[in-house]
Amino acid sequence: MVHCPGCGTTLEDETDIEFTDRDSTIGIINSSKRFYTASCAACGRTIGSGVAGARGNAGAA
Ligand SMILES: [Zn+2]
Repeated sequence: MVHCPGCGTTLEDETDIEFTDRDSTIGIINSSKRFYTASCAACGRTIGSGVAGARGNAGAA
């Protein structure tokens, strides 16, 4: 289980994390992949980031 380092909220659900697609701002990433950042839904602090496959299973709403 993950806790937000900013506000201490327990991040146990996809709804507690806000994924922001960054692929439009990262020129070096091949278009077949999507770079994203994960932020706390409560305070907006960036928790982590990564690259997802084209299928985009990052819990898109
Ligand atoms: Zn937070």
